[in-house]
Amino acid sequence: MNPFVRLVRLAKSYWLWMSLGAFISLLVVLSNMALLGTAGWFLASMAVAGSAGASMNYFLPAAAIRGFAIIRTAGRYFERLVTHEATLRFLSGLRVWFYDHLEPLAPAGMQPYRGADLFSRIGADIDALDNFYLQILVPIFVAFVAMLVAFFFLDKYSLHIALVDTFSLILVGAAIPVLTQYLARKPGRHMLTCSSQLRTSVIDGTQGMSDLMVYGASSWHIKQFQKLSQNLIHSQTDMSSISGFSGAVATFLTYCTTLLVTGIGIILIGEKRLAPVDLPMITLVVMGSFEAVNKLPKAYQYLGHTLMAARRIFEIIDTPITLHEPDLSPIIQDNSLEFRSLSFRYSDAGPWILKHLDLKLSQGQHVALIGPTGSGKSTFINLLTRLWEYQDGDILLGGHSLRTFRFEDLRRKISVVPQKLHLFNASVRDNLLLGNPEADEFKLEEVLCLVCLEQDIRLLPDGYDSYVGEGGLKLSGGQIKRLMIARALLKNSPILILDEPSEGLDPELESRVIKNIFEAYKNRSILLITHKFTGLQQMDSILMLEAGSIIEQGSPELLMSTDSRFREMHTMFRTLLSV
Ligand code: ATP
Ligand code: MG
Repeated sequence: MNPFVRLVRLAKSYWLWMSLGAFISLLVVLSNMALLGTAGWFLASMAVAGSAGASMNYFLPAAAIRGFAIIRTAGRYFERLVTHEATLRFLSGLRVWFYDHLEPLAPAGMQPYRGADLFSRIGADIDALDNFYLQILVPIFVAFVAMLVAFFFLDKYSLHIALVDTFSLILVGAAIPVLTQYLARKPGRHMLTCSSQLRTSVIDGTQGMSDLMVYGASSWHIKQFQKLSQNLIHSQTDMSSISGFSGAVATFLTYCTTLLVTGIGIILIGEKRLAPVDLPMITLVVMGSFEAVNKLPKAYQYLGHTLMAARRIFEIIDTPITLHEPDLSPIIQDNSLEFRSLSFRYSDAGPWILKHLDLKLSQGQHVALIGPTGSGKSTFINLLTRLWEYQDGDILLGGHSLRTFRFEDLRRKISVVPQKLHLFNASVRDNLLLGNPEADEFKLEEVLCLVCLEQDIRLLPDGYDSYVGEGGLKLSGGQIKRLMIARALLKNSPILILDEPSEGLDPELESRVIKNIFEAYKNRSILLITHKFTGLQQMDSILMLEAGSIIEQGSPELLMSTDSRFREMHTMFRTLLSV
């Protein structure tokens, strides 16, 4: 569908504010025309009455002039107030609408877009849409109605004058803008692309600043940045030249039309078809009518830019959702998990990551999944939490396919400590409360003790209220990992999945933390994904994953007593089996 029509549909919910703003804008333009016309007529009439020594009632026209002036001034104030209110409401609604549509796409549907590009779309592109109402819709509406009003008013005095005015208004309001839009299409698109690339470069560069410094690549990045800035400046200069040119032509046409109308008026007066006192009024109304269209060239110029921003936003919104959610979840008796001949790959053209995989995790069982790097261990989490859709086979929770659960219900059953660490730039407390917003101080302390982090947090300047910095910048890798484990424990769900929980911990701390987690989850299910051998002795079962298939499965004792791949790896890494 045309992005313009889609934008109008999105704006529908704010029609009251928007129509009120448009109506006040129209009132301002009409009162300006009326003010100029009345003033012209009044001055001419007073001059004629004065020279003829006649008297005239000047109270009424003087009051009308004051009235129109007040309406115009107050109208300008309320016009700004209401149109900006409408725009801000529209924009904030758009942001929520965009985020609502973005969430179901994450992460699979968002993979083609770079993080900074997404940020740019949610920020700059949505901001660019503020032009849509204020700079495009309102000026078009005001121009159209005011043009009609001017035509019917002038037609009462002379059809020729009305036609000349309307023709010029169409030239200034439509022909020049169309030409302007044609000229501005390329630089408009270029400007948007450049500013988006520049933003992406700034965000990437800031986030990866330490890497750029360490690798001595700062100057390379600065050069890239300068090149993008230059491109943006060029496209902005092109846009300004076009806007200046169209403004100059519009002003020139306005004055030519005023002169022409005055000339026609003089002829009509000569032919006694027009009263002399009406000419100044007509000339000033014609001049005033151009105010109705003087925003149109800019409107058309913004149109390309705004539609491009809308297209970029709709492009994301139209990304097909691969994961579908039912309205209701089944009621389950137990929290067992079962993979039935499950196959998965990240893209249609990509390699199969999991191949015809069968495995069962009974309720309360502690199972370890081990395997070489890239064998598909973390992929399990993406499938279990329904972040990605699997292609073949099925995964069952309590005997029901995961596809039959609402995401929220399913995710409530599973706590995850992911391999990739991410903390929000908020306090320790806020980061923890994401796991369970209702948890009290006692509960927070309990989980922090379990992960041996309580002391570390107490030593921070503001304790639980200390800010962790961007992505946990102010904490060490091991502290971030333990904070994330604590958050998962706080969620207190029946299934806990730990992806490399001991990465970044020294052996002693690693044993203590793992032991505490196992104790806390004595009667609940744990899926431990690891490269390491710490804690494996306590597992009920060990699964060896290689190239997307389970190649071995059994208790640690069984696997150690046979000539297994597990024993081979264990020997190779020379890691102690006991915690
Ligand atoms: P590690 O031990 O290094 O953590 P892993 O066993 O957890 O490895 P996964 O992260 O599951 O491995 O990745 C399995 C394979 O899937 C890898 O080849 C990886 O390149 C690929 N992969 C992972 N995530 C994606 C993704 N989002 N899009 C495409 N391919 C992916
Ligand atoms: Mg992994």
